Amino acid sequence: MNDNVFVRMNGIGHAFSRELGCTCKRCREVKFHMANPPEILTPFDGWDDPPWRSHTSSSILAPNQDGTVKQHILIDVGAGVVDSLVCSGLEGLDHVCAILLTHWHPDHALGLNQLCESVKRSAKRQGQEFQKIPLYCTLETYDHLRTKGGQSYVLEHRLCFQEILPEQPFEVGGDPLVRFTPIPVAHGGIKGSVIYIAEIGPKKAVFAWDIDVPSKKLPYSDVTNLEVINRNIGSFKDADVLFIAANTWNADETEAGGEKKTGHTSYQRAKSYIEAIKAQKVYLVHMSGHEDGAGEVGFGWKDEQWETAVRGDGIAVSRQGMVIEL
Ligand SMILES: [Zn+2]
Ligand SMILES: [Zn+2]
Ligand SMILES: [Zn+2]
Repeated sequence: MNDNVFVRMNGIGHAFSRELGCTCKRCREVKFHMANPPEILTPFDGWDDPPWRSHTSSSILAPNQDGTVKQHILIDVGAGVVDSLVCSGLEGLDHVCAILLTHWHPDHALGLNQLCESVKRSAKRQGQEFQKIPLYCTLETYDHLRTKGGQSYVLEHRLCFQEILPEQPFEVGGDPLVRFTPIPVAHGGIKGSVIYIAEIGPKKAVFAWDIDVPSKKLPYSDVTNLEVINRNIGSFKDADVLFIAANTWNADETEAGGEKKTGHTSYQRAKSYIEAIKAQKVYLVHMSGHEDGAGEVGFGWKDEQWETAVRGDGIAVSRQGMVIEL
C-alpha cells in the first residue's frame, strides 16, 4: 500500500527564526490568530507569520484508515518542531519510526531531546516499552553532535545511530517503506552535510535545504554542488516535489568566490538546482533575507512577499504547518 502519503512542513525557519532586536517585518510581524488545522491527516495550508517560527523540518506521514498517524519519519528536528507537531492536532505523531538529519547545525538538531523524551514518555503512558529511535545521519554529523553539539545524552540513551553513506540509498519504515538517497553537499565549511531524496512507491520528494551555491566544492573534493546533483540526476528524475532553501534573495558566496558568504545559496542561484532537478512542484523553505542587507530586495520579506516575488517562476512558498499529499 503506497496510497496516501503526506509531507508536513513542521517549520521553514532559518537558523535564527526570529531575531531579538531586529526590526525587519519577518522578525516583527506576528499573527496571533492561527487557523485550526483539520484533525485528520489531510492537506492544510499552514500558517503565515505564526506566533513562533519552527526551524526547517519535514515529517513524512502515513495515515491509518481513521486519519490518525500510523508511521512518522522526521527529517531534521530543530527548535520549535515538537510544538509545531502538537499544533497539528494530529493523533499518532509519537509513532516516530526514524529521524534523519541533514547536518549538525543547531537549527536542525536542537529539538532532538524534546522529541525523544516526548516519545519515551508517551510510550510509558501507554504501557509500552520505549524502543530507541533510529537516527540516520553521516558519521561526521553524529560525531559533532556527540562531542561538541551537547547531544551526547540523547544520542546514547534515546537514539540508535545508523550511519548513512553519501549516494548510498537506505530504507526506512515498513508501512510504507521509504527509500532515501542522501546526496552530499557543500554547506558553509562543515563536513557531512546531505540533502535527501525520498521515494515512496512511485512518489518522490526532495528535501534540499542548507546547501551552498552551485559552484561550491564539497569537502575533500573537487566536485561542486551542482556537479554532484547532475551526477545523481537519475535519482532526482520525476520528483513530485522539491523543497529548496532560499536563505536570501541575492546575497551568497558569489560564483567568483566573492564578498558575501552565508554558507547558503540565494534564491537567484538556487534556480540552478531547481532547473536541474525539474520537480513538478517547488516550495521555498529556510528563508531569512537578513544577509541581503537592510533596504535591499529580500530583506524583511514575509512569506507572502516571497510568494509574490517567485510566483512568476512557477514556484511556491511553504508555510509552517503546511501538509501536502504526495
Ligand atoms: Zn539551517
Ligand atoms: Zn529580522
Ligand atoms: Zn546549516
